[in-house]
Amino acid sequence: MRLVGRLVVTLLSLVVLAAALYGGVRAFEWLQSRDAFGLLAREPVQPVQLTTLDPYTRKVAGRAWFGNYFTTMVFDAGSTSATRPRIVAKWERKTVTVDLLNDGGPGVQSYLRLLLRRLDRLQSQVDFRLGNTDPLITVQFLEHGAYVRQNGADSVGNTRTRFYQGPPGLIRARISVDVGVQDTPDEMRSTLIHELTHAIGASGHFLSASDRRHSVMYKANTLTNWSQNDAAVIRILYSPFIRSGMSEAAARAGLRKYARAGK
Ligand SMILES: [Zn+2]
Repeated sequence: MRLVGRLVVTLLSLVVLAAALYGGVRAFEWLQSRDAFGLLAREPVQPVQLTTLDPYTRKVAGRAWFGNYFTTMVFDAGSTSATRPRIVAKWERKTVTVDLLNDGGPGVQSYLRLLLRRLDRLQSQVDFRLGNTDPLITVQFLEHGAYVRQNGADSVGNTRTRFYQGPPGLIRARISVDVGVQDTPDEMRSTLIHELTHAIGASGHFLSASDRRHSVMYKANTLTNWSQNDAAVIRILYSPFIRSGMSEAAARAGLRKYARAGK
């Protein structure tokens, strides 16, 4: 009998212990759930986006040569304060829809969609997407004659932007491409990526032949993807450290802040 009694007591204690453990775990789970007033919330309400800071971008952000690369790409060297101010003009809204107004040939639409997806991976401020509902960036393919009448004969692609000299920055971009002079799919792609990069706020060009293989913003671009430095420029342009309306000096200060962020 005593043995049976001890067994019953042991079993009962085990049941009580299991129940206590179960209750404890449930309580802990409840504390971590959303309706538990955030008692154990481990994330701040507005997480600082330091995780999106790319190590390469942070490494180069503070370097002088990259400061020159950034300002060459973002600011239009041809504009002066007399014509147009040299300021940052970027998209400052949640979504920017890009619309192909007409058929650019086989593979063009999927290439553009790929580029927009890459842009979304590079930054998290703006969701760039392909569509035709309230498009803010439009792409139109023109026959050679029509293109020349509209933009002259000294280019193969053109981007016209409208923007405020401060928030909300860019409000409209129209890309036109001369289809008559794009001999290969790669030429079409390199024209498109160059113009799209203008359309998101890079107004400048690299003019030296030594930059030919280094940036899509080389004047006569042949690249079909952003270089590592181009990607770094886009990351920083669409970071909290750069805002529409910034002067070149303010943008350089923003670069230094990016370099220090998260250290
Ligand atoms: Zn250009």
